[in-house]
Amino acid sequence: MDSGLVNELVHAAAVLNSIGCLPATDGNFSARTGQSNAIVTRKGIEKRALCTDDLIEIDIEDDQPSEASSEWKLHRALYLARPDVKAILHVHAPQLGVFVAAGLVPDVKLLMEAEMTLGSIKMIPYIEPGTSLLGEHAVKFGGNSGVLLLERHGVVAVGGSVREALHRIERAEFLARIQLGMKLL
Ligand SMILES: [Zn+2]
Repeated sequence: MDSGLVNELVHAAAVLNSIGCLPATDGNFSARTGQSNAIVTRKGIEKRALCTDDLIEIDIEDDQPSEASSEWKLHRALYLARPDVKAILHVHAPQLGVFVAAGLVPDVKLLMEAEMTLGSIKMIPYIEPGTSLLGEHAVKFGGNSGVLLLERHGVVAVGGSVREALHRIERAEFLARIQLGMKLL
């Protein structure tokens, strides 16, 4: 496996854990390696303590590799539909989770940094996790957005690199925290 990408995914897990996005075994990550392969998290592991052994490299065309995350079909659909996407991070972020539960999308216009770096955040109508249909909906309703909110579920960030996807989650989560705080004023 590409040790650089492995290290980036391990780093992303540590950062996402530090902002409370990885309860229990929740979340899953992947990074594209060349045209036809991707590194993906194994199913059922605690991503908060992610290490090299928790990652496997698989064929991107594979519909459901046996050891891969149960959410692989979502990653696969996004990779096949969006050649620009090189990394995908799915988490259960607490502040964005409030918006997800309420069926609302944070307003990127509230903060200059969010508007410039996130562009748009899209809500994906609820579909049962782990299904091919969820991937189809993420492509259909996500457009070319970098941050997708899965209704009643969680958050997906895509990027041209692991770092870009990570920064998108961090910035979207920060925006959500600020917008929730504004409601107190
Ligand atoms: Zn999830």
